[in-house]
Amino acid sequence: MNDPKLKCEVCGQPALGVCSSAFGAISHAYCQECLTEGREVWSTLVGGLAGVGGPADLVDWAKPRIAATCAFYKKTEAQLWQEIDQLMKDYDAYWMRQPKEQDSGSQ
Ligand SMILES: [Zn+2]
Repeated sequence: MNDPKLKCEVCGQPALGVCSSAFGAISHAYCQECLTEGREVWSTLVGGLAGVGGPADLVDWAKPRIAATCAFYKKTEAQLWQEIDQLMKDYDAYWMRQPKEQDSGSQ
C-alpha cells in the first residue's frame, strides 16, 4: 500500500501506509521516519494516556514513544501531562452538565 497522496498524520511527509496507533483503538497514516522513531499523533497520545494516572504508571515501551512525540512537537512531558489533566477535567465537566436520567422527564 503506497498511495502517493497519503500524508503522515504526524509530520505531513508522504506516508508508508495506515496502521494502528500504539496508544489506542485508532489508526493513522505514518511515514517510515515517524514509525521508526515511534512518533504519535499528538491528540492520540493525549487521549490515549488519559486515565493512565501519571508518568510513574507508564509501561516501559511507551516511554521512548512519548519522548519522541514530545520532541517532535517541541513540547515537554510536563506539558503533555498538563494537557491530559485538562482533558480529564473537560471530560468530567462535560458529563456533569448532562441531565441526570431522572431529570429527563421521559417517564
Ligand atoms: Zn511522519
